[in-house]
Amino acid sequence: MKANLDVLPLDSWVNTGGKPLIIAGPCSAETEEQVLETARGIAKNGFAHILRAGVWKPRTRPGSFEGKGEEALPWLQKAKAETGLKTAVEVATPQHVELALKYGVDVLWIGARTTVNPFNVQDLADSLKGVDIPVLIKNPVNPDLALWLGAFERIAGAGINKMGAIHRGFSNAQETKYRNSPMWQIAVEFKTFFPQIPMIGDPSHMAGKRAYLAELTQRAMDLNYDGLIIESHRNPDEAWSDASQQLTPDALAEMLKSIEFRNATYGSDFQSELDRLRERLDNLDRELLEVLASRMSVVEQLGEYKRDNNVAVLQLNRWKQVHESRADWAKSLNLYPEVVEELFKLIHMESIRKQTEVMNQQNA
Ligand code: PEP
Ligand code: MN
Repeated sequence: MKANLDVLPLDSWVNTGGKPLIIAGPCSAETEEQVLETARGIAKNGFAHILRAGVWKPRTRPGSFEGKGEEALPWLQKAKAETGLKTAVEVATPQHVELALKYGVDVLWIGARTTVNPFNVQDLADSLKGVDIPVLIKNPVNPDLALWLGAFERIAGAGINKMGAIHRGFSNAQETKYRNSPMWQIAVEFKTFFPQIPMIGDPSHMAGKRAYLAELTQRAMDLNYDGLIIESHRNPDEAWSDASQQLTPDALAEMLKSIEFRNATYGSDFQSELDRLRERLDNLDRELLEVLASRMSVVEQLGEYKRDNNVAVLQLNRWKQVHESRADWAKSLNLYPEVVEELFKLIHMESIRKQTEVMNQQNA
């Protein structure tokens, strides 16, 4: 793995006065008025450095609003001329890159649905050869660190040296409270490969809902992220995309005031060690439960055997033997015997319940 990409520090292309970089703006550019009014609200509050707006929207299902395209680019130019905010748009094809450059967009970002595809990323890289513009790369939708790293290598290979990573979370296999699981440890691991690449948190796409923005923003700041990209809309409930996760510029300013911005030196090492240990615990707990599930399936087979041979569920001799042997094993593993005894009482109780259920299945 090439770990020494040539990347310039954040302050070489945006002046944040040492504070975290804040990128704010609507999920999508919808109308000229919506872009201008939102940009004015953001500029008035003075917290942001860059105005974001999606112009080409990669929607999961066709039929949703797919962006205004080229028509919206002059609106961003106007917003920049009026407010002084730099502008950023998502690019997914070489044609997007060409148009964004034609209309003077300052920063490009590659979306999560593009980072997953090395062919697309390479096409973008080829279209960026010889261009000097900052490129931010969102994590891929699936939790695959190598794809994310690879996208940086491809874009850096085109000669781009102003880059940043956007951590927007990963698709969930199961229902969780967040739209996309943060899986913070992946971003932490990213930093071990490319410590020089600034990390920008995207609490909007992690959260999916306004209510979770503050806690995710705080977490990103606790992990010492270099910046944030947050969706803001003049009238969030009426937004044409991602309505439930956007905030008005005023509400966003309020939310940012509630965040504790830690000292720059606090956090990342401490927090990453904590994350590593917690991740190991998560894995071990999962294995414990998997072992418990296998045990229950053997218990079920035992129940069937007893039922078919008309043997009673509970046999005291056997229980006594289980009880003693487990206590001995606990001692040899340096585990507290009383705790292990309690644990096996519970496990045994559940085994009896299961076997009784199996018995009754035939009797029913
Ligand atoms: C967006 O930023 O509006 C967007 C489409 O995000 P993502 O690529 O993270 O889904
Ligand atoms: Mn969005």
